Amino acid sequence: MEALITVLPGDGIGPEVCSAGTEVLQAVATKYGHRFEYSEQLIGGAGIDAEMDPFPAATKSSCAESDAVLLGAVGGPKWSDPNATIRPEQGLLALRAAMGVFANIRPVKILDELAEASPIKRDRLNGVDIVVIRELTGGIYFGEKTRTKDSASDLCIYHRHEVERIVRVAANLARSRRGKLCSIDKANVLESSRFWRDVTVTTMEAEFADVELEHMLVDAAAMHLINRPADFDVMVTENMFGDILTDEASMLAGSMGMLPSASLGESKCGLYEPIHGSAPDIAGRGIANPCGMIASTALLLRHSLGLDDEAADVEAAIRHVISAGVRTADIAGPGDSPVTTTEMANAIIQQLR
Ligand code: NAD
Repeated sequence: MEALITVLPGDGIGPEVCSAGTEVLQAVATKYGHRFEYSEQLIGGAGIDAEMDPFPAATKSSCAESDAVLLGAVGGPKWSDPNATIRPEQGLLALRAAMGVFANIRPVKILDELAEASPIKRDRLNGVDIVVIRELTGGIYFGEKTRTKDSASDLCIYHRHEVERIVRVAANLARSRRGKLCSIDKANVLESSRFWRDVTVTTMEAEFADVELEHMLVDAAAMHLINRPADFDVMVTENMFGDILTDEASMLAGSMGMLPSASLGESKCGLYEPIHGSAPDIAGRGIANPCGMIASTALLLRHSLGLDDEAADVEAAIRHVISAGVRTADIAGPGDSPVTTTEMANAIIQQLR
């Protein structure tokens, strides 16, 4: 097949892991006889530096023409002045809004070999296989903001269709897995959460009576994610709660560097990125773990290009290389000699071939 993929390396370790991702996609293309074209564009701090714009017009139009978008990460100390009017994160929010990707999907599965890298006790990690689905284009991050000298506010608003469509994504996924959906809210305090809960119940009763639905308050969910993570199947939640819980869930896997994400909307063109940020503390040293990015390319192959076998092949190659003991510094144990970003990517490509 032929596909056009917009590649947005961004800032910090973004370019390092992005090039590992495109090399893996290229290895897949060669192995299976596909033709992938890449359009590399600016985003975040890189866009601000070059064009004073974290989401330049050329980036927007390239994404609109593409079959999928692969993103590294944005942000870093260089652009972190809280009083700045142009910030890298604006590029990310604008990108998500322009692509209409409202569902952020983050699988968290623990590879047995990496259980020791997790700060959580090994016995709690047995059987952990969670998918967290975060609403991405609504809620408090997008609501009206006000600021006076003595006060500030951020509006958290959800509309019925926004809740219904994310619940449908989550319930469909739960149906294809263990049939359990846990909806996270703060319905004891927030009106927007009570609304979220009501719409979830109505949608589930009407369309997904076969899927088991549980409601959980976000504070309890934060606790149970650590205490009994294996009990969760699919979790669905609003934007800010999801932002926080997905980072917490990622620690189950030991490193931010291991986990992928997909952001999907109504169209086939999804946005794929590792869950980590730009990691300025290790940027430019060639030691970032590319596995989260490479696993994101597997999600891209599966969800945007419909290439299920190729996606499974990439995921198997990552598992094989980890089983063989190849480790970047973030997941290395005391006796391991860590490999570089390129060495990890090459090991996975070698396995794919
Ligand atoms: P971070 O994810 O960048 O880093 C957290 C810690 O994890 C750091 O110690 C880092 O070295 C480590 N880490 C992250 N990815 C790694 C990898 N692939 N391999 C090895 N170690 C890895 O989070 P942060 O430090 O809170 O944020 C840094 C910058 O990234 C900030 O400017 C933040 O706004 C931005 N950020 C961007 C995104 C995004 O682009 N989607 C997401 C989160 C944070």
